[in-house]
Amino acid sequence: MADVRLKNVRKSFGAVDVINGVDIEVEDGEFVVFVGPSGCGKSTLLRMIAGLEDITSGTLSIGGTVVNEMPPKERGVGMVFQTYAIFPHMTVRENMGFGLTIARAGKEEKDRRVNEAARILQMEHLLDRRPSQLSGGQRQRVAIGRAIVRKPSVFLFDEPLSNLDAALRMDMRMEIGKLHQQLEATMIYVTHDQVEAMTLADKIVVLRDGEVMQVGTPMELYHNPANLFVAGFIGAPS
Ligand code: ADP
Ligand code: MG
Repeated sequence: MADVRLKNVRKSFGAVDVINGVDIEVEDGEFVVFVGPSGCGKSTLLRMIAGLEDITSGTLSIGGTVVNEMPPKERGVGMVFQTYAIFPHMTVRENMGFGLTIARAGKEEKDRRVNEAARILQMEHLLDRRPSQLSGGQRQRVAIGRAIVRKPSVFLFDEPLSNLDAALRMDMRMEIGKLHQQLEATMIYVTHDQVEAMTLADKIVVLRDGEVMQVGTPMELYHNPANLFVAGFIGAPS
């Protein structure tokens, strides 16, 4: 586990300011959800934490270390994307172990970690299948497995369920909640779905146009929204 702190973080793409000085604190082991409308900067924030995007100014620390200049691989973060980003020509086992191959883990270590991830995700019986032989939910579990095998101290999820149908989304939402308890990891989860945010979050960060509108527990936001935008966003059914 590790905490994640952003201090006055800004991001511009050329002349366009996308993140306008945000302060966010994610405690060790916390499940924090970033919500906000499309284009408000949720993915950009996650990508900066992962190290896939430079920070224009401000400070980002993970586990007490400033990581502004640290390469992604050294940050101890695992990211799960909206699109599954798994390889169609590889089996589930190969897909899950892929990041470890790159990290030059030994075969024994790799097998052990892949088997453990498969057990956690209840996919042991599917390890030799290819993605085309899996359901949408199973494919998304492979993508989560790829993050788990690397034992990150921080998991970043970018709208991981938005491509799934409603029933499956509800199942997977519960699974991700269980995963958080089981793995005891810090999780930052991006969604534009209020129900997901309300059910999963210890703490919700509401974003709008690259700024933090409000931070609070689901109940705090529900009962004491700071403004109409938050009230509309948290209160409105999806
Ligand atoms: P969200 O994930 O909340 O939908 P994003 O973080 O993807 O929002 O995008 C925030 C803003 O930054 C959007 O206006 C988007 O067009 C812009 N943006 C994102 N990535 C780039 C990029 N690589 N170059 C230029 N603009 C970008
Ligand atoms: Mg996004």
